[in-house]
Amino acid sequence: MEYSQDISIIVPLFNEEESLGELFSWIRKVMEENGFSYEVIFVDDGSTDGSWKVITEIAGQNSNVRGISFRRNYGKSAALFHGFEAASGRVVFTMDADLQDSPEELPEMYRMITVEGWDVVSGWKQHRQDNKVTKNLPSKLYNATARWITGIRLHDMNCGLKAYRNEVVKSIEVYGEMHRYIPYLAKNAGYTRITEKPVHHQKRKYGTSKFGIERFVNGFLDLLSLWFLSTFGKKPMHFFGFTGLLMFLTGFIMTVWIIAAKLINQSAHLKYRAVTDQPLFYLAILTVLLGVMLFLAGFICEMISRNSNERNKYNIKDRL
Ligand code: UDP
Ligand code: MG
Repeated sequence: MEYSQDISIIVPLFNEEESLGELFSWIRKVMEENGFSYEVIFVDDGSTDGSWKVITEIAGQNSNVRGISFRRNYGKSAALFHGFEAASGRVVFTMDADLQDSPEELPEMYRMITVEGWDVVSGWKQHRQDNKVTKNLPSKLYNATARWITGIRLHDMNCGLKAYRNEVVKSIEVYGEMHRYIPYLAKNAGYTRITEKPVHHQKRKYGTSKFGIERFVNGFLDLLSLWFLSTFGKKPMHFFGFTGLLMFLTGFIMTVWIIAAKLINQSAHLKYRAVTDQPLFYLAILTVLLGVMLFLAGFICEMISRNSNERNKYNIKDRL
């Protein structure tokens, strides 16, 4: 496939006016030194400072700079979604606007995609320059969980600096706050050649971080959703039906046993307890009810997935 340039660099940004000029000059310097043809796509995620003005100025002087401006702040995923849609380079990079990621890493990452044949090369902030307690530590824990659930051996799943084969970004759809798991989205779309490269990371020079500690809770919930979708998205009944059946049967057997034990003891004139006097009985009812509810959830999910326009979406590699 022919691409109109070697590289597309997507920069999502929210109130980063001080960094943009510096960032672009640095990108241009690295691109020119290495002789790449490239485009930079700035996606202004509803900034309320002068970011868009700076972008307009840069684009006025450089024909390979494009800009997309959201009317309000939608989040980094929305910005990346539009960037991916617009990207026309052979290799697509994403990069934060705050100068924490270094453009010097791009040539090597480009080589890893085009020569070594990786689908995704994710940056790894090996020596992370952020607050130790609020970011570095939770981040380690979070990445370990992500590795375990996704099966992708990355140290730093959420690094803003990443490179993709163009085809990858056109095959995935980032939404909600799923920008944290793009490698997982890529894997689920069938692109399994995913690796990482240690990258330089710098302290934020201007402005402040846009994400707080809540990212770890929300990030974990999103991870669970993605895991569920990728495992049972097309067959939800296999999840709900199985757990529902298991619970229903357990509860049912408990109930029968409690009633039978009582009747047998009663008819043999032995000491017996009324069914409603046994705490286990209530547990049994609860289990039966939960089982039925899980089953119903399964049917509803099946109807939803039957109506989804993704129900027959498969990523075809080749045709003869
Ligand atoms: N960002 C964005 N929309 C948002 C929040 C952040 O486009 O709603 C951009 C932000 O401007 C930066 C990148 O996403 O370019 C990463 O954000 P930040 O540097 O605040 O994250 P951190 O480095 O603290 O993880
Ligand atoms: Mg940052």
